[in-house]
Amino acid sequence: MVKERREAMQSFSASAKAEICREYPQNTCCALAECFGILLFCNCFQDTQIKIITESQDFGKLLPRLFRKAFGVSFDQLPEDGGTGKLVFQITAPNKIAAIMDAFGFTRGDTLSLHINLPVVEEDCCKAAFLRGAFLAGGSVTSPAKAYHLEFTTTHKSVARECYTLLHETVGFSPKTASRAGAQVLYLKQSDLISDFLTFLGAPVASMGIMEAKLEKELNNQVNRCCNCDDANTSKVVEAAQEQLSAIRVLRERGELEKLPQKIAQAARAREENPEASLSELAAMMEPPITKPAMNHRLQRIVAMAKEAAQ
Ligand SMILES: [Zn+2]
Repeated sequence: MVKERREAMQSFSASAKAEICREYPQNTCCALAECFGILLFCNCFQDTQIKIITESQDFGKLLPRLFRKAFGVSFDQLPEDGGTGKLVFQITAPNKIAAIMDAFGFTRGDTLSLHINLPVVEEDCCKAAFLRGAFLAGGSVTSPAKAYHLEFTTTHKSVARECYTLLHETVGFSPKTASRAGAQVLYLKQSDLISDFLTFLGAPVASMGIMEAKLEKELNNQVNRCCNCDDANTSKVVEAAQEQLSAIRVLRERGELEKLPQKIAQAARAREENPEASLSELAAMMEPPITKPAMNHRLQRIVAMAKEAAQ
C-alpha cells in the first residue's frame, strides 16, 4: 500500500508536518503569527540567540522563506545542504534579533516573561497560523498504530497557559497539561480530537490516517471476537465490511465519494459510521428504511464503483 510505503520512509509526525508545510501563509499577518508560534515553541528564543532544531526536512525548507517574509531576516547558521537528522537554524546577530522582537512588540530583556502577544493572533487566520507554527517547532504526533498522542512542548510557562486558552477558543477543546523535565507539555489523547486538530492545522491526510487506524483496530477486535466464537458466518460479514470500507476509502481518495448518487452515499456513510453493523442493521438505518437485499445491492455497487475507479 502506498501509505505504508510512505510511512516506512518517514515517521507519522514527519508526514503530518510535511502536509502542514504545504500551506504557505499568503498574508503577512499569518506569516508573522506562524513565526510567533515557532519562536515560542522552539528550542531557544532569547535576546542573545534564536535556535530552532528540527528533524523535519519540509519544515527546514519552509523556515528561511517564512522568516524572510515575516521579518526580512535571514538565518546566521543554516544546516548543510542535504543534511539529515537534526537540522539546526540559528540567529545571533543583535540587529536581526532586535528586528524580530520588535515585530512582536517585545524589547530586549522581555524574553524571561515571554507570552502570547494577543494582537498578533487576533484574526482567525492568524490563530490557525500560530498553532501551525507551534506544532511545527514544538509538536509531535505518534503513529496511531502505536498510540493516540499529539503534543506541544514549550519551556515558557505563561506560553503554555495562554496556548491552552487559545486552543480552547479556536478549536473548542482543552488539551491535557503536564510538566516534563522543566518543560510544559500540552497533549491530546483522544483519537477524534487529534484527528480534528490535524485537519484544523491543514493535515487532512494525517487526520484520516488516525481515523483509519481506529477503524482498523475496531475491525480487528471484531475479527478476534469472531474467531473466538468460531463463527464462520460472522467472519464472512466482517470480511465483506472490510471490503466495503476499503472501497469507500478508494472512492474518497479519488474524489468520487462526493459524486455518488444520494442513496449510495447514504449507504456509504452508514457503513463507515458502523463498521460492525450487519446488513439488516444498516438497512434499518436508511431513510426510508430498505430491505436487506436492497442494502446489499447498494454496498455491492460501492465495491464495484471502487474497482472501476481504481483501474
Ligand atoms: Zn492572518
